[in-house]
This record gives sequence, structure tokens and C-alpha cells, in this order.
Amino acid sequence: MNFELGKLVRPNIWALEPYSCARDEFKGMQAHVFLDANENPYNDPLNRYPDPLQEKLKERLAPFKHVCPSQMFLGNGSDEAIDLVYRIFCNPGIDNVVAIAPTYGMYKVCADINEVEYRSVPLNDEWQLDPKTLLSAADINTKVIWICSPNNPTGNDMSREAIHEVLTKFEGIVVIDEAYSDFSTQKPFRDILDNYPNLIVLNTFSKAWASAAIRLGMAFASEEIIGLFNKVKYPYNVNLLTQEKALAVLDDFMHVEGWLTQIKREREHVLPALQELPIVLKVFPTDANFVLVRVTDANRIYRYLIEQGIVVRNRHRVQLCQDCLRITIGTRQENNELLGAMRFFK
Ligand code: PMP
Repeated sequence: MNFELGKLVRPNIWALEPYSCARDEFKGMQAHVFLDANENPYNDPLNRYPDPLQEKLKERLAPFKHVCPSQMFLGNGSDEAIDLVYRIFCNPGIDNVVAIAPTYGMYKVCADINEVEYRSVPLNDEWQLDPKTLLSAADINTKVIWICSPNNPTGNDMSREAIHEVLTKFEGIVVIDEAYSDFSTQKPFRDILDNYPNLIVLNTFSKAWASAAIRLGMAFASEEIIGLFNKVKYPYNVNLLTQEKALAVLDDFMHVEGWLTQIKREREHVLPALQELPIVLKVFPTDANFVLVRVTDANRIYRYLIEQGIVVRNRHRVQLCQDCLRITIGTRQENNELLGAMRFFK
């Protein structure tokens, strides 16, 4: 593959002299008096700016993700990483991106915010992508292809072979959003980061790691690409409280593993039970912690569930998802409440 990062990056970003913050400059030196950042000397430790590159946290994360700290970017949710991909690679009004459909909505919202054309290519009847169609939607101004696996809202893994084909044949950036990969049995793509200079993998603390409130997302890529993320991000994009809470999650990882087992077990309970319901026409196979179901009348069932105090996601208006609801796997009690309510729908 003919991959030249310099040709893909927006010229202004390639040439950018990043802001050098006080904490960057003193790095590596010994000091005990900090009069460099106009901080207040009182109210320790909240008075100090946090580590701009979150080095301690990245060191702790590395063995969990099997990725070197220098190949990691941490951001305010993976949504920050999604937006940065546009800001780094896509010239507004000129470049475009290609994505599967249906998929996670923020890829399109960020494209619109950044004035980048968004080309969506429908998945087939089995919610799989066809590499040839995806690649043929790309032209010389296509900088990025977005793939989400397991995909939101369909729930299924994209075929590994199909993704490989896109990765090898496309000379731009391929982002694989693996926000839900802990719920799947498929090997994560971050494991083969070194094989693809054009690959960016997204992960998050918000799903299997049960920490959506702290807003912490991860991007894994070559050191060169991560260098670009670090140039463009706000200097202190991940606050101290988030960094500390994230370390606490990793210190107590047994809990995460327990929850994961529980959720996967619940999934086995919920899927067949949904299939039994007369109002459910189809339960789509899922590798995530949610399931897409086609029902007799999504709008009416959605409103009825709200009246019962149960909120699911109505995907009726999403391309190819007519009369579909997306339902998160909850606790046994929550799932039973949902199933009970759906059983009584008239
Ligand atoms: N990617 C996908 C596929 C998602 O479904 C979501 C959240 N719903 C995100 C990314 C965003 O995650 P975060 O909380 O890390 O911003």
C-alpha cells in the first residue's frame, strides 16, 4: 500500500506549531516550587493543572490494551477523538469521508460541524459491509472510512475479512470504532495496530468499563498519528478527577470483569425472550450490550414503554431501521420489567 501520512493531513495541521503549556516545559526536571502556570498555591491538589498527556494513566492502560503508551490518545469521550479525526485530516468544503449505514450518529454530526461531505454506504441484509461498494464510494478527496464493529445500532460484528480488505486497499485513514468490542468474541483490531499505518481504533470507558460519567475515550494508532492528535487537542483535555477515577477503575478491574460476565449472561436470557413476544418481528443477532429488534409498530411501542417508565431507543427513522427499537441489556430486574411490559402491549 502506498501510504503517506503527510499527504493525508490538512496542510495547516501538518505545519502547526502546537501550544506549549507550562506543564510540558518543565517535564523531566526535578522541582518542588511551581510558579510557572499562574495557579493558586492553595487547595491542593485541585489547584494544579493535570498532566496534559496523562502519562501515568497510559502506563497503567498499556497492559490492559496491549498497546504502547506512545500509540494512545486519551480524550473527553471517544466523541473527542471522532471530532479530532475530522480536524486533523479533512479540509472543510473539499474533502469527504465514507461510512457504513446505519451506524453511530456522531460520525455524521461531526462531518456536518466540520463542513465535510459524508457519504454513507448501506449495509446488506445481514448488516454486513461490502468492501468493494465501500471502496467504490471513495475518490481522491476521501480521507477517512468509518467502520463501527460491533456496529451501533445493528449490534453485530463486521466481518474481519471485509475490514481487512478495506484496510489493505484504502490509502487513506480507516477508523474502526470498537466501543463495544469487549462484549464480542472477535479479536480486537488494536492487536494488529503495527500492521496498518492507516488504522485508528477507538475504545471507550463508557460501555463495558461502566464509566460513561467520567468521559474518557481512547484512540490507538501509530505514534505519528497519535502525535497529530496531541498537537490538535486542547492542552488539558482530560481533567484530574477523570484521570484518578480511571486509575481506580483499573485498580478494581475484577468488578468490570464480573459485570461483563453478568451482561453477557443476561443477553442470553433477553434475546430468546424477546423473540417469543408477538409484537417482535425480528431480533437481530448481536455482539454488543444492546440488541436491535424489529417490532410491529416502533413509534407506538416506544411511547407505550415511556408511559411505563421504560426508555429504549427508537430507531424507526434511521436508514434501513424502519420499526426498529434498540434495547440495552440491563440488570435481570430491568430486563424482566421491559419484557413484562412488552408482553402486555396491545
Ligand atoms: N462509538 C460508539 C459506537 C458509540 O455507540 C458511542 C456512544 N454511544 C461512542 C462511540 C461514544 O462514546 P464516548 O462515551 O466514549 O464518547
